[in-house]
Amino acid sequence: MSDGSDSDGGSLNFVEVHVEKDLADGRFDGRVQTRFPPEPNGYLHIGHAKSICLNFGVAKKYGGKCNLRFDDTNPTKESTEYVESIQDDIRWLGFDWGEEQLFASDYFEQLYAFAVQLIEKEKAYVCDLTAEDTREYRGTLTTAGRNSPYRDRSVEENVELFASMRAGEFPDGSRTLRARIDMASPNLNLRDPVLYRIMRATHHRTGDEWCIYPMYDFAHGQSDSIERITHSICTLEFENHRPLYDWCLDALEIYHPRQIEFARLNMTYTIMSKRKLLELVRDGHVTGWNDPRMPTIIGLRRRGYTPESLRSFCETIGVAKFNSTIERGVLENSVREHLNKVAPRVMAVLRPLKVVITNFPEGETELLDAVNNPEDPQAGTRQVPFSRELYIERDDFMEDPPKKFFRLGPGREVRFRYAFFVKCNEVVKDESGEVVELRCTYDPATRGGSAPDGRKVKGTIHWVSAADAVSAEVRLYDHLFRTENPEASEEGGGYQENLNPTSLETLSDCRLEPSLAVAEPGQRFQFERLGYFIVDSVDSSADGLVFNRTVTLRDSWAKIQRRKGK
Ligand code: ATP
Ligand code: MG
Repeated sequence: MSDGSDSDGGSLNFVEVHVEKDLADGRFDGRVQTRFPPEPNGYLHIGHAKSICLNFGVAKKYGGKCNLRFDDTNPTKESTEYVESIQDDIRWLGFDWGEEQLFASDYFEQLYAFAVQLIEKEKAYVCDLTAEDTREYRGTLTTAGRNSPYRDRSVEENVELFASMRAGEFPDGSRTLRARIDMASPNLNLRDPVLYRIMRATHHRTGDEWCIYPMYDFAHGQSDSIERITHSICTLEFENHRPLYDWCLDALEIYHPRQIEFARLNMTYTIMSKRKLLELVRDGHVTGWNDPRMPTIIGLRRRGYTPESLRSFCETIGVAKFNSTIERGVLENSVREHLNKVAPRVMAVLRPLKVVITNFPEGETELLDAVNNPEDPQAGTRQVPFSRELYIERDDFMEDPPKKFFRLGPGREVRFRYAFFVKCNEVVKDESGEVVELRCTYDPATRGGSAPDGRKVKGTIHWVSAADAVSAEVRLYDHLFRTENPEASEEGGGYQENLNPTSLETLSDCRLEPSLAVAEPGQRFQFERLGYFIVDSVDSSADGLVFNRTVTLRDSWAKIQRRKGK
């Protein structure tokens, strides 16, 4: 089918429409074979997740396969650390590329042979122009380029020179192999593009075996062809490279996949280029690629995002042909929705204020039933201890509350979640006037949260028993950048100027209900009323629990917009 809907009645994205048309036309013998081709020069980010979901998704949908191929043609920037992290992230996202380890560098010998074939067909030549002259000869968008003086070398001379380039007889950058296409082409990519450069750099896999390396445009399409890829799905900036992609395959007369471009993911409050993310790491603006504020997969994972939430995010935003920017809130919503279904609820107090229940006997504890997850009846209940000394959230008390404040204040009564009605009778302050303790009474008849005499309270707050509480550090995060488009700076500088100085708030004296004493790194919870949290996988230990807030419970961004009347 290619009418825009699939057999389940769902709608097709435009890539799938192309694939279905090719299947219907019998192109590629009914096969679907895609690939995800990262360059191992950094950690994957949320933009890559979109590409991964698309490539693996299309392959799965049509019973095909998706290769993971490392596009490792630029040895100075690449490393095994990145290769391993990329494999790990893809697996974590829930995708499987099979047994094969594919690297463009495994094709270097074949790519070299292809280049020799182009020379023999008089479609490539060795050029001695310097990088600067090559640029000058290329012309501009409005003026044609000029032919290189080396363009008409004989096949024999070119074959010999190219072999000498490989043999290391020339210095770095002194010569290139170029395609002989058209120096007057309106598409600059077709003005005799460079196919090979001389560069003495140790490659993370081939070591010092090569001192010439293929350019992306020469390696990519030929690698697709070698792997018999059917649909080579890439981002829009490669649209004007497609004529070169096609030219190389046609000139070599080899198997010819089809390149399809889609719009890359851009997101507010986020930068997405690996080069810039690396700068953030190197300049110490974040603690590493896995900093929970980073848009990297490993950062989002440490922050508490689930694979399911990232996949559903990619599904929600869809695949388009035109660039646009997605609100960061859409990503946050995807994890909120998933965790709402699966995260157990617990009580935690981030900024503790002591409450003494003066009519509760000293040294005694009452165990109360608490629901683990109202969204999941199977999750059952647990018991939480209530005692004479408790902690509540500082924010849940105001000495002089305004009208709409329904929480605790002098003389007021509220419900303590899963417990009793509690009334504040006295406020204790220190010398500086800061409130340090509330003296309250509870009504034993309100156990379970309602009063037999029918009296009502307006607010319900969370609490923990002081003696039973577990201490922890909790890290709250805000956007890493303070502006929606960090790369556009009013002052004319870069994204560095738009870093948000308050993107991390560390609370070191938090008190959690005792069930959290055994929480393991990577476990996720909803702290009632406060958001979703995960036990940090790097800094948390049995002696010092550390939690990251994944996301707040409500979309505060949407709330602000509503208040502004937008
Ligand atoms: P960056 O510019 O962030 O370094 P890249 O394109 O150089 O990204 P690659 O490792 O070459 O990174 O990307 C691997 C694949 O992921 C490519 O097919 C690329 O098109 C795709 N990709 C990269 N960034 C995005 C994005 N923001 N949205 C969708 N796909 C992306
Ligand atoms: Mg790239």
